[in-house]
Amino acid sequence: VGLDQELPRLLPLACEWAKQQSELVQADGRPLNGGERDLAVKVGVLKPENVRLLSATWIPTPTEPSLKAACEQLNFLGPDALGLTLGYSVILKKPNAWRRALVAHELRHVAQYESFGSIEAFLAVYLPELLKYGYDDAPLERDAAEAVRRIEEAG
Ligand SMILES: [Zn+2]
Repeated sequence: VGLDQELPRLLPLACEWAKQQSELVQADGRPLNGGERDLAVKVGVLKPENVRLLSATWIPTPTEPSLKAACEQLNFLGPDALGLTLGYSVILKKPNAWRRALVAHELRHVAQYESFGSIEAFLAVYLPELLKYGYDDAPLERDAAEAVRRIEEAG
């Protein structure tokens, strides 16, 4: 069975995992500092005060076997992953955690979640994009990369 057929079953599991992780970060993470708030506003975040950042040794990955297998198949959240955004919760991998471009990229994902309105609504678009286009060419990833490019050009 291909992942595209499995997606309707995986999506609720992914949402459940994402919401759990998001709540952990909301509890343990720190609010944005002044510079990060400016960055958040620049990439379109409407409520920067809601964002929490957590730096971690590893980006968390799902342990549920079918989700874990799907992540591996999509090459998503692998050992190279530097950041993960779930709603207003941003997890950044040490030691790159506070690199401006990485923070800006993840904050652009926060703005995307805001426009979708919920973790479920975001993942319902984002995960099929990963499946269809791959990580680098997924439209929501290209949008985040573009937001970082604009900020770096602006200096
Ligand atoms: Zn991204």
